[in-house]
Amino acid sequence: MCGQNKLFRHWVHMAERCPRCGFIFRRIDGHWLGSWFINVCVSQAAVVVVVSVIMTVTYPDVSLPVLAGLGGATALLVPLVFFPWSRTIWSALDLAMRPLHFHEGVDPYWELQADLHRLREEERIGTTELSADRPEASPPD
Ligand SMILES: [Zn+2]
Repeated sequence: MCGQNKLFRHWVHMAERCPRCGFIFRRIDGHWLGSWFINVCVSQAAVVVVVSVIMTVTYPDVSLPVLAGLGGATALLVPLVFFPWSRTIWSALDLAMRPLHFHEGVDPYWELQADLHRLREEERIGTTELSADRPEASPPD
């Protein structure tokens, strides 16, 4: 939301909220399926690239154990290495597709000006009807 880094305590342990703006990353149940999809796509593309390069370089004497070993290692390591990026990329894509709801608890400083106008209008009316088209965020477990 705000561009803050250090969102991971360990390589695969993401903070629940952004430490600077308070954005809750897991916005709905099943939120991380999108990051899994991105990670699988990147990993499979990496395997295709590795296998293609090995076959191109060693053709016609392609070694099946080398091919299987390096392809398998790529299939195991890339998802682990790419994990933090898959989550942050998915969070950005999700935010672009499903704009932030004011009830998600983000510090208003980080709201876009157009969104602030909408927030003030909601506060003036005293309702959330203007945001009725947006789904509610679920609290983290
Ligand atoms: Zn933030």
